[in-house]
Amino acid sequence: MTTTAPAPVPYAEALEEFEPVIGLETHVELGTASKMFCGCDTTFGAEPNTHTCPVCLGLPGALPVVNAQAIESTIRIGLALHCDIASWCRFARKNYFYPDMPKNFQTSQYDEPLCTDGYLDVEVRGETVRIPIERVHLEEDTGKSLHVGGATGRIHGASHSLVDYNRAGIPLVEIVTKPVTGTGAMPAEVAKAYVTELRDVLRGLGVSDVRMEQGSLRCDVNVSLNKPGEEWGTRSETKNVNSLRSVERAVRSEVERQAGRLRAGERIVQETRHFHEDTGMSTSGRSKEEATDYRYFPEPDLVPVAPDAAWVAELKAALPEAPSVRRRKLTNELGLSDLDSQAMVNAGVLDVVLATVDAGAPAAEARNWWLGHLAQAANSRGVEAAELPIAPADVARVVALVADGKLTAGLARQVVDGVLAGEGSPDEVVEARGLAVVSDEGALAEAVDAAIAAQPDTAEKVRGGKLQAVGALVGAVMKATKGQADASVVRRLLLERLGVSE
Ligand code: ADP
Ligand code: MG
Ligand code: ZN
Repeated sequence: MTTTAPAPVPYAEALEEFEPVIGLETHVELGTASKMFCGCDTTFGAEPNTHTCPVCLGLPGALPVVNAQAIESTIRIGLALHCDIASWCRFARKNYFYPDMPKNFQTSQYDEPLCTDGYLDVEVRGETVRIPIERVHLEEDTGKSLHVGGATGRIHGASHSLVDYNRAGIPLVEIVTKPVTGTGAMPAEVAKAYVTELRDVLRGLGVSDVRMEQGSLRCDVNVSLNKPGEEWGTRSETKNVNSLRSVERAVRSEVERQAGRLRAGERIVQETRHFHEDTGMSTSGRSKEEATDYRYFPEPDLVPVAPDAAWVAELKAALPEAPSVRRRKLTNELGLSDLDSQAMVNAGVLDVVLATVDAGAPAAEARNWWLGHLAQAANSRGVEAAELPIAPADVARVVALVADGKLTAGLARQVVDGVLAGEGSPDEVVEARGLAVVSDEGALAEAVDAAIAAQPDTAEKVRGGKLQAVGALVGAVMKATKGQADASVVRRLLLERLGVSE
C-alpha cells in the first residue's frame, strides 16, 4: 500500500494556526591539540586512520585519561552561557553498536552534566529572545563512515563502506536548549539567530574553530507544533544540519510538513530526520530510541571530575566580553546606525565587519564589502558571508590597496573574487592576475590620444565647454586599459589634453 504525504502548509499560514516549540542540540568539536581520552593528534584532514591509538580504537585493556584542557573549555562555555557548574560529576557510558564507534560505547555524560541551567540572549528582528539552556556536557566524537559505490553517498545502495577513526575520540561538547516556546511567527529565524550567536560566543572563547562546513559545529533541530492552548506536540529531530542557512530551512520545512500532517488529521511520528542541502527538505530516518535503550552507567575507568570552585571563579573572571556586548560597544564607537548593525546582524556579518575594522579598514568600507559584494558572492554560493573563504584581514588589505590608489573599485572586486576562488592573498591575486592600476601617465597618454582621435566630435564638444561629454572618452580609455586605469586620473589627463580646465 502506498500513501501520499499530505501537502505542506506554507510557513506563515502554518504559524497562524499552530504554535511552534523548538529545541536545538549543538555539537562543537573542541580545538584541543589532543583527543579527549588519549594523546592522539586532532588535526583535520589527515590521511585516514593515522591519528589513532589503542585507546581511541577501543582495544582491550586500553585505559582513558581525561583531557584537562577539554574540561576547562567546557566549563568556560558553560560560564559564557550563564550555567551552573557542577562541583562533582562523572562520565557515563552510552552503549550502542555502530561501526564508526570502535569501543561499542560512547564515553559521554548522562545525568551528571558538567554545566546546567543557563541561557543565551539573541536578537531577532529587533527583539531580544532568551533561549534557555538545559545542559552543556562533554563527550567524544565518533569516527566517520564513507559509503562507496552508491549514487547518494548513503549506505543505501552502497557496495562497501570505509571507516576513518581519526575523528573518534575528539572532544565534543553538546549544548542542549530547553524547549523554546513563544517564538510565534519566527521559529526558524530564532533558531538561526541562536546558532549564529552561539557560534560567535564559541569563537570569542577560542575553544573551537566552529566551522560548520567542516563539521566542527553541527546542529540537530527539534520541532513540534501544537494548537494554541493545547499540550506540546510530538517532536521530530532533524540531524546534522550543517550550515546556518540550513538551520533556518530545516525548521521552516519541518513546520510546513508537520502542519500539513496535523491539518490532515495525521499524527507526527517521533523520529530522526535527515536534512538534504540540495532540496531544503528532510526525509525520515530512524524512529527514536529511548534513553533506556542505551543502558547508561557511570564510566568505571575514569575518576569523577570535581572542578575547584576557586578555579571556576577564576575562569569566570577571565571570560572575554560577550559578542553582544562587544557589538553594542563597537557599533556605538564606529558610529554605525542601529539600522546598519541590525542589517549586519541579520546577514550574520557583524563579527567579520568588526574583525575587518580591527584589521585596519574604515567601518563604512568594511560594512560595504560585507553587505555588498561579499553578500552577493555568498548568496550565489548558497553559504553565509561569514563562511566565505576570505579572511577579514584580506578584505582590509583590499580596502587599503584602493585607498592607496593601487586598485580601482572594479579591480578590487576582481581581487576579492580571486581570493574567493582560492588564488591566494590579495597581493598574490594582484600579482598573478596583473590587476594593479595603470598609473603610469606615459602609458595612459597613448590611450588618451587614441580615444580623442577615435571620437573627434565628442572631443570638439568638450573643447566647446560641454564637460559632461568627456564621460564617453573616459569610458573609451577605461575600456582600452581593461579597467585598470584610475578613472579620475584619466579624466584629468583628457581635459588637460583638450586644453579645458574645470
Ligand atoms: P534526545 O537525546 O532524545 O535528542 P535531548 O534531551 O538531548 O533528547 O534533546 C531534545 C531536544 O528537544 C531538547 O533541545 C529539548 O528542549 C527539545 N524538545 C523537547 N520536547 C520538545 C517538543 N515537544 N518540541 C520541540 N522540541 C522539544
Ligand atoms: Mg539528541
Ligand atoms: Zn588515540
